[in-house]
Amino acid sequence: MTNPIRLAIIGLGKIAHDQHLPAIAANPDLDLVATVSHHGEGVEGIASFRDIAGLAASGIAVDAVALCTPPQVRRAIAAFAIDRGWHVFLEKPPGATLAEVVTLRDQAHAQHVSLFTSWHSRFAAGVEPARAWLADRIIRHATITWREDVRHWHPGQDWIFEAGGFGVFDPGINALSIATHILPRRFFVEAAAIDIPGNRAAPIAARVDFRDTSGAPIAMDLDFRQQGTQRWDIAVDTDAGVLTLANGGAMLTVAGAAAPAPTDELLGEYPGLYRRFVALVRAGVSDVDVGPLRLVADSFLRARISTVDDFHW
Ligand code: NAP
Repeated sequence: MTNPIRLAIIGLGKIAHDQHLPAIAANPDLDLVATVSHHGEGVEGIASFRDIAGLAASGIAVDAVALCTPPQVRRAIAAFAIDRGWHVFLEKPPGATLAEVVTLRDQAHAQHVSLFTSWHSRFAAGVEPARAWLADRIIRHATITWREDVRHWHPGQDWIFEAGGFGVFDPGINALSIATHILPRRFFVEAAAIDIPGNRAAPIAARVDFRDTSGAPIAMDLDFRQQGTQRWDIAVDTDAGVLTLANGGAMLTVAGAAAPAPTDELLGEYPGLYRRFVALVRAGVSDVDVGPLRLVADSFLRARISTVDDFHW
């Protein structure tokens, strides 16, 4: 029998509590040995440290770390972990810039550790069936609508509106992680309009026009000011009808008929991510995909940027 991977969580915020802790507890291949929280919070019965240097100095045996901090501080923490020979699971987005993620990839390769750029939305129930169905279709056009109320979903998370925090592209990159996975052809940014509140540094809304290599247009609409019904939808018009992925990839409808929901209780975005991470570590390989991050970066490169009303929580 293979020993469980001894794992530490770095950054104990919303996603660590909501998803990582339960997914790790449910996976017998993982053993949570420590947490790192720079505000000093911990998990009952588990060693906790103020920073990753304190964890390293403690002598606790660690095989891997899951980085659940905001993106702006990820690179330095990941580099420190890789230097110690620890495998690294990166929450999305994998970094604040493309160059830092590629540098981490090369560092992990040189140190013979696994690096995983996790994209949780790709593990939503409808995503793999959508990818299979779209594989041999002709795409006419697609729309991506990701509109949510930032005050509800990211309460008080000032980092999201700081430079490098991605603003509305923080959820928007989830849509791009799905679209880059399910659409059969690569696509590129042609134009973008980005709205940034006067008192903040990152977008509150964005509209991006993409086109795929066959010429099909893909329109993306992101907005953090959504009231009422929240929207995380992708619709793809094809030669065989319209495919719709709603609720962040969870609900698939093909040509008007809902696809059956999976019944396997082991399914789920974070259980799926951790199964993948365990497989990567056991196989001694990395999975580094910067595709969604590249499209966000390209959106900024091609954007007309407007200043809009100040944002207050
Ligand atoms: P959050 O609630 O603000 O938590 C982030 C945590 O990171 C903080 O609680 C803080 O934890 C830690 N942190 C902040 N600055 C740090 C620093 N300089 N050094 C070390 N740790 C630091 O944010 P979140 O919603 O969990 O999001 C974290 C990441 O997960 C983001 O990249 C986000 O895109 C991704 N994510 C979020 C969601 C979601 O629904 N919220 C879903 C999927 C993915 P300590 O005070 O404990 O150190």
